Amino acid sequence: MYDINKIYEILLMQNYQKELFSDLINSSSIVTGSDINVCCPLPNHNDSTPSFSISLTKPLYNCFGCGAKGDWLDYLQKTQNWDFKTALAYLADKAGVEKSNVPIVKKKIEYSYTAKEKEQKVIDFEANDAYFIKCFDNLLNHPSALKFLEEKRGIKPETAIHCGMGIDTEKQRWVIPVFKIGSLNWEDPKFWNPKILGFEYRRSDFSLFDINGKKFKCHKQPSTPSTLVEINGKSPEMRKLIIMEGFFDAYLYWQYLKENGKEHTTHIITPSCGLSRLVEDVKAFDFTPYLQVTVMLDNDYKHINVQGELENIGLNKMKELNELFPEFKYNVLPDGYKDFSEWYIGMNKKEVKIAC
Ligand SMILES: [Zn+2]
Repeated sequence: MYDINKIYEILLMQNYQKELFSDLINSSSIVTGSDINVCCPLPNHNDSTPSFSISLTKPLYNCFGCGAKGDWLDYLQKTQNWDFKTALAYLADKAGVEKSNVPIVKKKIEYSYTAKEKEQKVIDFEANDAYFIKCFDNLLNHPSALKFLEEKRGIKPETAIHCGMGIDTEKQRWVIPVFKIGSLNWEDPKFWNPKILGFEYRRSDFSLFDINGKKFKCHKQPSTPSTLVEINGKSPEMRKLIIMEGFFDAYLYWQYLKENGKEHTTHIITPSCGLSRLVEDVKAFDFTPYLQVTVMLDNDYKHINVQGELENIGLNKMKELNELFPEFKYNVLPDGYKDFSEWYIGMNKKEVKIAC
């Protein structure tokens, strides 16, 4: 595997952007601060004013005219018609960086969905949008609920808003929208077109039981398919993916990245209905754009399985995935923490840091 951060570091030191974009830089280019604005070279944009901004300090570009943005790898793929591997090898060669022994993250393993699974994957209800907006607005208008969320679960208001959380005041429950992967781009409101597949619920005190004492079971919500879903939408420059076990862990992970100024680095996804179909969904996922994939499942959570035995499901799923994807990283939490939420909420006391 190539170390893209190292490649970019070397190339930036050599001012490689001037070479990469040399065809575009001419007398009509405008330098503003740490950017050069040139006419957009992308095939779908017939640009007459310089609206394509090239950063002089980062390996990034951003077009204000057509909305395209990404890193140099992404630029080479778009303009040269290359695949990711070819673009990466080209930049590595320019930087004089050798491949390390670690294999590049594998492509997806072919997996055929059964007819029933296929049917479930295409479920999509437009009515969900109206409900999502109503619950989202409710939460914004209830400062006490936002405060409760932060006190009980460590989730700050900006995180709740980023993740589209809401509350249903009639049914007294938290409403967690389940977004389709690829439908979110939080970076650019123009492309903010989330597809809501359904919802997860928690009672207002975060228990798993509704006001009638019945357990919320996502499998019983006909509108919520069991699939991998989006928490932090992917932007073209993201080369890291993390698969978290649950929504609240995933929200807190986003918050942790944000606090460290790194929320733009990592695409975050989670299974919508627990771990039952995780391995199948991961097999069908396309990992080609990523240089690093991390799986962070609960450490220590024991369930009674169908045979009536105690089972550490998270650990077993990670073992199963490790057989198929040995190049992934598994659970980077320090020992003794059950899940990311527990670690995050206890972090201030223990002062343990984890890489992000
Ligand atoms: Zn453009």
